[in-house]
Amino acid sequence: MKSEKAEELRRTTCCVIGCGPAGAMLGLMLAREGVDVLVLEKHADFLRDFRGDTLHPSTMEIMDELGLAEGLLDLEHTKAPRIEARLPGGTVTVADLSRLKTRYPYITFMPQWDFLDYVMGEAKRYPDFRLEMNAEAKDLILEDGIVRGVRYETPDGTREARALLTVAADGRSSPFREQAGLKMVKTSPPIDVLWFRLSRRAGDPEDTFGYAGGGRFMVVINRGEYWQIAYVIRKGDYQKVRDNGLDEFRRSVGETIPDLADRTGELQDWDAVKLLSVQADRLRRWHRPGLLCIGDAAHAMSPVGGVGINLAIADAVAAANALARPLGEGRVSSRDLMAVQLRRELPTRAIQAFQSIAQRRVVSSALGPDGAPSIPAPARMLLRLRPVRDLPARIIAFGIWPEHVKRREPVARKESVE
Ligand SMILES: Cc1cc2nc3c(=O)[nH]c(=O)nc-3n(C[C@H](O)[C@H](O)[C@H](O)COP(=O)(O)OP(=O)(O)OC[C@H]3O[C@@H](n4cnc5c(N)ncnc54)[C@H](O)[C@@H]3O)c2cc1C
Repeated sequence: MKSEKAEELRRTTCCVIGCGPAGAMLGLMLAREGVDVLVLEKHADFLRDFRGDTLHPSTMEIMDELGLAEGLLDLEHTKAPRIEARLPGGTVTVADLSRLKTRYPYITFMPQWDFLDYVMGEAKRYPDFRLEMNAEAKDLILEDGIVRGVRYETPDGTREARALLTVAADGRSSPFREQAGLKMVKTSPPIDVLWFRLSRRAGDPEDTFGYAGGGRFMVVINRGEYWQIAYVIRKGDYQKVRDNGLDEFRRSVGETIPDLADRTGELQDWDAVKLLSVQADRLRRWHRPGLLCIGDAAHAMSPVGGVGINLAIADAVAAANALARPLGEGRVSSRDLMAVQLRRELPTRAIQAFQSIAQRRVVSSALGPDGAPSIPAPARMLLRLRPVRDLPARIIAFGIWPEHVKRREPVARKESVE
């Protein structure tokens, strides 16, 4: 008979807090390399609406390198080869991914929960992988300045996971950064985003569009049966939008996106409209002995370009590439952890800088009093040159420094998963 203590204590090599894109991919990749991993997820399932649902070519190439792209694309999804903006002066192609040299020249839209379910289904095939749902990490276990694991709550009571390395992949509000004394660099993005959906009907366009005009900017994403819409507002204006009333909100949507004006009545109340408070920050240092932060926990990204998931996954790949061997050998040094930050910090900061410029431009032109954004003549000339024209598509598709899976022989998988 097991002792009560043994029920409360988990020993593992790597304990990952949070099973979002970063934690799930890190768990899968470490288990694939034979590292004992325990992933803790506070929710009972992955069902979350209005999360990032985009997989860019860089992520699809990683899935391909893991032999998982085909299976993933068997799941229901839509593809956007182009991002276009409908401006008062006409339609402009912001990024044309279809011209890029990759097997996946498009953005794949797939509900995040389907992606995570799929990744977890694969991870569970490896003997060294464990996932605990309904397991909310609470406190780091610190001994002599070294993180030795984490205490977590489950419906059956408090447990401890003791690990050689703990990875905080628990998203933008991670409390473990403060517990570990890691300092943030915060920025103040000038925008917030309201998310809602409207039905898609026969004869609707296929593509994903940005619409600007009348002092408003909205992005309309084709999600198969419905349109997912991002309505960009100035930071702090949410209450003003609500005070103006739902009728005015519906009217403004219909005026900006005439194609959908006939169905704005589907927005019955404010519960249908979710506010995303846009946040952008990063840690100065992503690690301390025994602890590494990755994904949004290390750097919350603005939604501009929809790159948060891809950066989170790139962090996971970089971490697995750098740490699988030391973890397998039972020793992880500060140098190993620093190597992950060194690899991922520059691309993250560069993308945050691009996002900051794009946000300022949206606020000063699309959300400005004239609300008639246009592309300046010199920029239009430059955009005729192919390398310049392809640049936004390349950045959106691959980021600055795409990660690739290190080619090592994976451990044997179980044929079936219970
Ligand atoms: C409304 C919205 C729309 C977005 N749209 C896009 C988009 O279109 N494209 C894009 O690329 N990005 C988008 N993003 C950003 C994107 O979702 C994130 O950048 C990405 O999910 C980060 O992945 P992550 O794994 O680091 O963190 P998260 O996805 O936040 O995952 C963290 C996980 O940790 C779990 N967790 C949290 N605390 C604990 C705890 N104490 N114990 C155990 N588990 C815990 C959470 O339940 C969650 O499952 C959007 C974000 C939001 C909020």
